[in-house]
Amino acid sequence: MDDLHYGTRNKRGDWAPKAHLELPPIWRRPFSLPKVLAWLPEYLYPWNAFHMATALLWWFFVVPDVETLKTLSWGWALWLYAVNAAAIFLFYGSVELFWYVRRKQGTRFKYNGKFPADQPSDVFWFRSQNIDNFLRSFFISIPLWTLVEVLFLHAFAAGYVPWLAWEDHWVWLIVLTLLAPAIHEVHFFCIHRLIHVPILYRWIHSVHHNSVNPSPWSSLSMHPVEGFLYHAVAFWHLILPSNPMLAMFQLHLAGFGAVNGHIGFDKLELTEDTALGSHAYAHYLHHKYFEVNYGGDGLIPLDKWFGYFHDGSKEGEAQMQARFEKKKARMNARATRT
Ligand SMILES: [Zn+2]
Ligand SMILES: [Zn+2]
Repeated sequence: MDDLHYGTRNKRGDWAPKAHLELPPIWRRPFSLPKVLAWLPEYLYPWNAFHMATALLWWFFVVPDVETLKTLSWGWALWLYAVNAAAIFLFYGSVELFWYVRRKQGTRFKYNGKFPADQPSDVFWFRSQNIDNFLRSFFISIPLWTLVEVLFLHAFAAGYVPWLAWEDHWVWLIVLTLLAPAIHEVHFFCIHRLIHVPILYRWIHSVHHNSVNPSPWSSLSMHPVEGFLYHAVAFWHLILPSNPMLAMFQLHLAGFGAVNGHIGFDKLELTEDTALGSHAYAHYLHHKYFEVNYGGDGLIPLDKWFGYFHDGSKEGEAQMQARFEKKKARMNARATRT
């Protein structure tokens, strides 16, 4: 595919899409019902449907029976860890293998013209972004993902929280299923904005931001505090009346869904003329500029409301620069006072 048909490439070899990021049509004014209806399939398919499918697979084929879940034990916890780790190895690993190791697409649709493997840096373990990100994912974040999973499954099974049955509460549970991506967006925005507070950033979140040019292994490369808070989004289903299957969907939106922001390519070419949209640009801009786009796709447009939204346009760039200038002026004023 000709990526220059869809975007532009600068002298450094970085590609940017021509189309700017837009909020979902539910937030655009004037309100247009046809646009909302046209957007709904895209909302569900393919990504949210994929996360739902894996959640169902786990629920029916991976999660032990309720009697087992009533007692905490290393046996089933390690089993869940093994399956989660194997799934991420296959899912993230296949994108890494084809797009980053074999480079089947070259740099077509790639935001950053360089590949992390070609840029060793002292900020990473073994000077390698790939090794560093891989180890942090498999030995820090996926164990914490599994910890969250074990805790909520045990809480439901032991009866610490209500377990709503689909037969009796199907309307509410369907509503909650459709809301899960919005819960993810709000939870992620809040914890993410929090760990951008300078002291927490230095202590916690800088680990994730070492990857300025992210690849799939960067998705779950986090400090343990972030790794736990990020996956703890599933605990909302212990507070809201819910069901463990939905908590699993919520967890998979976080664990599997983290890859979306870190694919590094705007489109993954599947055949000669079909490609899969990655939804990665908003979060790519976050890795590039740090203080924009704390949320995801703007399903709940908190970035827009708080003035952090960067849509990739010249106006978005100017707004960001104006905000940075104001911040600098505030910091200078504070420095002169003290
Ligand atoms: Zn990131
Ligand atoms: Zn960040």
